[in-house]
Amino acid sequence: MTDQATSHTSRIPGFHKLPVEQRIDHVAAFANLAEEHRRQLALASNIDTQLADHMIENMVTTIAIPVGIATNMRVDGRDVLVPMATEESSVVAAVGNSARQCYEAGGFTTSISGTEMIAQIQLLGLPDPARARLIILERQSEIERICNACDPMLVSLGGGFRDLEVRRVETPSGEMLITHIIVDTRDAMGANAVNSMAERLAPDLAAWTGGRALLRILSNLADRRVVRARATWPSTAIGGDDVRDAMIAAYHFADNDPYRAATHNKGIMNGISAVVLATGNDTRAVESGAHAFAARTGRYRSLTSWEVTASGDLAGTIELPLAVGLVGGAVKIHPTARALLAILQVKSASDLARIVAAVGLAQNFGAMKALATEGIQRGHMSLHAQNVAFAVGAVGDEVAEVARRVVAQSAINEEAAAVVLAELRRAAP
Ligand code: NAD
Repeated sequence: MTDQATSHTSRIPGFHKLPVEQRIDHVAAFANLAEEHRRQLALASNIDTQLADHMIENMVTTIAIPVGIATNMRVDGRDVLVPMATEESSVVAAVGNSARQCYEAGGFTTSISGTEMIAQIQLLGLPDPARARLIILERQSEIERICNACDPMLVSLGGGFRDLEVRRVETPSGEMLITHIIVDTRDAMGANAVNSMAERLAPDLAAWTGGRALLRILSNLADRRVVRARATWPSTAIGGDDVRDAMIAAYHFADNDPYRAATHNKGIMNGISAVVLATGNDTRAVESGAHAFAARTGRYRSLTSWEVTASGDLAGTIELPLAVGLVGGAVKIHPTARALLAILQVKSASDLARIVAAVGLAQNFGAMKALATEGIQRGHMSLHAQNVAFAVGAVGDEVAEVARRVVAQSAINEEAAAVVLAELRRAAP
C-alpha cells in the first residue's frame, strides 16, 4: 500500500477493506501528514474538554461523528483524498464510486467567482429614501475607509472593502433602505469580519440619511462566492445510454418540481455538508446559502444541471455559493479539523470550496444513478443493516453475519436482526 500512497493517486482499490489503522497510514503517507495530525486522526474520540468548553456555552459533552475518506477524487488535475464527516451510511461510498466512474475522463473541473461576502445594514424611518440611497452611494470612499479600518489584518492580506449596493425594499413595515457592503474576506468565511464592519458603519449611515439603523449582519446568500464544478461521465462507464437517459429524466423531474428538488438538493448537501463539517466550517451557513441560491429565480430548483454531450456522454455541473474558510471560527482551533484540512493539502479557501463543489456533484451523480436504476434502498440498506445489527447488540464478526442474513431475508429491521442474532449465538460452538 505504501507504494500506492506515495504515488499520489486517489485511486485506491480496496481502501474500504483495510483495517482503520492502515487507512490512516495510507492517508498520512499520501498527504505527508505531520506526526501531530496523524496522532489526532488515530484518536478518533472527543476533543479536549477545556477546548470544547471554550467553543460554546453550557458545554456538557461532545458527540463524535465518523469521518470517512472519499477516494478517486480528481479536482482540477490533482488527486485528492477528501475527508467527510457524516452519520449517514452510503454517503462516502457514493462519492468514491461516482468519482471512479469519471476519473479516467479527467475528473472534476472547477471555477469560482470570488471570495466576497455581503453584509446588510437595514435603515428604517427615512424621510426621503430615494435621496438617502444616493447620499450613501456618494460616500463610497468614506465607507471603504471606515470598513477597512475595522480589519487592518484582512486588508494587509489583500482583502477588505470592494463594493457598495443600496436597495429600496417595500415591506409591511414600510419602505426600508438596505445597504450592502461587499468585502473580500480571502481565506476567512468572513461572517465575523463583515459583521464588525456593518456594526461600525451603521451609525454613520443613520446620521447621514436621518434614518434609524436596525439589523447589521451578513447575508448567507453569498452569491459573490459562487463555485462551479463540472465533470463528464462516459456513457460506457456508467452502464450505457439507457442509464444516461434515465438520469437526465431524473434531473428534469428535480429541476421542475420543488418537492423532488428538495430531496435532490438534500442529497447534494449530504456530500457538501460532510466536507464542510470535517473541515470545521459552518454547515448552516453553507446550507442556507445553497438553498437560497437554488430558489433565486423565484422557484426552488436543482443545484445541478445535467445534459448529454455531442459525443453521447453525460455531463453534469453544479453551481452554488460556498462560504468556507481556512482561518477563523472553529477551523483553526479544532485539532481534528486541522488534521483533516491537512489531508486536503489546500492553500486557500477557494481551493477548499472547489473540492467541496466537486463532492456535491459526485454525490448527486451517485444518488441520481441509484434512483434511476436499482433504487436507493439496495446499496443504502445493506449498509444500514450493519447499523441495525449493532443496535440489537451484535459484536465483532456477528455484525457482518447478522447484516448479511437480514439483507438476504429482505427484512432489515431490529426485530428480524434480533432473531437472527439469537439463532447465530445458539448455533455457535
Ligand atoms: P474570524 O473573525 O474568527 O476570522 C477572520 C479574521 O481572521 C479576519 O477578519 C482577519 O482579520 C483574520 N485573518 C487572518 N488570516 C486571514 C486570511 N488568510 N484571510 C482572511 N482573514 C484572515 O472568523 P470569520 O471567518 O470572520 O467568521 C466565521 C465565523 O462566524 C464562523 O464560526 C461562523 O460560524 C460565524 N458566524 C456565522 C454567521 C452566519 O453565517 N450567519 C453569523 C455570525 C457568525
